Amino acid sequence: MKVPEIFGENVFNLQVMQDKLPKEVFKSLKETIEKGTMLDASIAGVVANAMKDWAVEKGATHYTHWFQPMTGITAEKHDSFISPTKDGKVIMDFSGKELVVGESDASSFPSGGVRATFEARGYTAWDPTSYAFIKDDTLCIPSTFFSYSGEVLDKKTPLLRSMRALNDQAIRILRLFGNTSVKRVYPTVGAEQEYFLIDRKMYDARKDLVLSGRTLFGAKPPKGQELEDHYFGPIKLRVSAFMKDLDEELWKLGIFAKTEHNEVAPSQHELAPIFTVTNLASDQNQLVMETMKKVASRHGLYCLLHEKPFKGVNGSGKHNNWSMSTDKGVNLLDPGSTPAENGQFMLFLMAVVKAVDEYQDLLRLTVTSAGNDHRLGANEAPPAIVSIYLGEELTEVIDALERDVKYKGKTKQIMKLGVDTLPELPKDTTDRNRTSPFAFTGNKFEFRMLGSTFSIAGPNIIVNTIVADELRQFADELEKASDFNAALHDLVVRTIKEHKRIIFNGNNYSEEWTKEAERRCLLNLKNSAEALPRFADRKNVELFERHKVFTEREVRSRMEIMLDNYCKVLSIEGQTMIEMGRQEIYPAVNAYLSDLCAAVRNKTSLFPGIDVSSDEKVIRRLSADNEAMFAKAEEIEKLLLDAKTRTDAAEQAKFFAEKVIPVMESMRAYADDMEAYTAKKYWPFPTYADILFSV
Ligand code: ADP
Ligand code: MG
Repeated sequence: MKVPEIFGENVFNLQVMQDKLPKEVFKSLKETIEKGTMLDASIAGVVANAMKDWAVEKGATHYTHWFQPMTGITAEKHDSFISPTKDGKVIMDFSGKELVVGESDASSFPSGGVRATFEARGYTAWDPTSYAFIKDDTLCIPSTFFSYSGEVLDKKTPLLRSMRALNDQAIRILRLFGNTSVKRVYPTVGAEQEYFLIDRKMYDARKDLVLSGRTLFGAKPPKGQELEDHYFGPIKLRVSAFMKDLDEELWKLGIFAKTEHNEVAPSQHELAPIFTVTNLASDQNQLVMETMKKVASRHGLYCLLHEKPFKGVNGSGKHNNWSMSTDKGVNLLDPGSTPAENGQFMLFLMAVVKAVDEYQDLLRLTVTSAGNDHRLGANEAPPAIVSIYLGEELTEVIDALERDVKYKGKTKQIMKLGVDTLPELPKDTTDRNRTSPFAFTGNKFEFRMLGSTFSIAGPNIIVNTIVADELRQFADELEKASDFNAALHDLVVRTIKEHKRIIFNGNNYSEEWTKEAERRCLLNLKNSAEALPRFADRKNVELFERHKVFTEREVRSRMEIMLDNYCKVLSIEGQTMIEMGRQEIYPAVNAYLSDLCAAVRNKTSLFPGIDVSSDEKVIRRLSADNEAMFAKAEEIEKLLLDAKTRTDAAEQAKFFAEKVIPVMESMRAYADDMEAYTAKKYWPFPTYADILFSV
């Protein structure tokens, strides 16, 4: 396989555009893409035709507007290119209008009340800043999705808006530093993706995996991740065949899949791409997840993307590596080597610090979901408390600036920002703090709280917008200053003083941190029901409106959808538990009990006085457990009915978190105990050991 030859072969990228489009049209389209300006309507027809010819040449027969509704996954509605001719034949046709807008019935996508039924129509519009591509003989056109009245119904539009907001404010800052040549600033993201690969047969045999993506029952296996022999361990043949295949598919789609390795848990793996512009990174991560599932099925495997497929075994997350870059390719979070660069770096850095402190709530709620609630705060993923890690060196620099003292041994004098040079900061790669939710890693921030199933669009909308808002405030202040360097120094020092409470370089998993964070008055929003309602807090709505990222109605609709999704997921899990409990576990244990009782009867009649005390222990234990589990199923059933009567989404979510989840956990505990005491051949579905060591 010649990678450079296949790389991007299924993508209508700049190079293909240049080849296939008339010079003038290409120039105009390129400008649209690079500057994020409006598409010139007069060229749409020419572009559509070239796109169609290219796609048909590659065997495509259909096209679709590929968009990201608020379900978090992608949606597509396929139309074929065929168009009848007068002589009863067909030609392959694709018009500019079909490229630019599509109409689709929006009524089955979540809208959180934004779309009343009388305006069920939804529109999709081509987002020319993301390349079209071919997947399964279909030309996919990355699109935005909105309602008849113009409200956004997707994750892409607000992401693009937040990128524009960040651009506007970052440019103001760069101008203050005398930079007049940069035309655009955009956020960059590299999303590391964790996942589990299990045998397809195991998956099919478990109703909970099929219906909810995670195991709702299952006793801890004798061997889990204790030996730490899986992390970076040798990759098994079947898995490496999968990875090879996956890489090839992704490369064809122009995705720079770069490193693949085993993760901590058995059967767990990770894929890291090379970072790119955020909206592209977001589209690409969706394709990565989709392709993982598709390729796995070709190998008789199943790819689990759930945040916590197995209790007691590390779950899966997604690390969102985030930075800002200029159109000249300069990373704005890279500490430079001259005084001016250092001052600029410190200012961008402090914008992030202040943003994370002031919007802990938004960062927390943008990574919350029923699935991710199992991870955050569970000593394997960052805690539910948001804080920022800067590393020892940078923290010492900040400390010296704040206290107006010499930076430890490395500089002779007291440092003045904008005048002096920062000491060189080591890019430590070995001793990184892996427990921090938001960690500075040399020239970017790694937001580590995302769940593995997440669309990265949501969290990046938040990060871009909150940083944009701090840059706005900084620019407002500095633009008025008469002595720029003095004002810069003051601003940075003041920001350090006011927001240093959010900096924490220690172990985020420790109990002391929870106490310390409380002392620092940091938020600790434990679950979705606590976190999500904060979305519509006044300060947050004002933030989004100020930067035209969301209207208040859009904020409320998104909050509704997330709350509703939380309740629906738990309701499905509850119902699945009831079914598996009643239809699979209860009868299986009863069958075993009945055989055990027969054995006791046989033994005692053949050998009167024989010791059957262990049989009796098992019988009593299983019998009691089965009764208790059955009762819990009934309790869950009642609670689910009760939950339905609660019409307020926030109240319903609270009910699930506080009332339903504890009973589900208790039902599971009885079932898991029975698994440990029931003969293997009676147990109705594969166990953790069967699944985790199946590949
Ligand atoms: P690690 O030691 O965590 O593997 P890497 O430097 O390999 O660190 O980066 C991990 C991820 O961060 C990769 O996806 C990489 O492309 C991405 N990344 C690197 N630099 C940037 C940047 N400036 N902006 C966004 N993401 C970046
Ligand atoms: Mg990482």
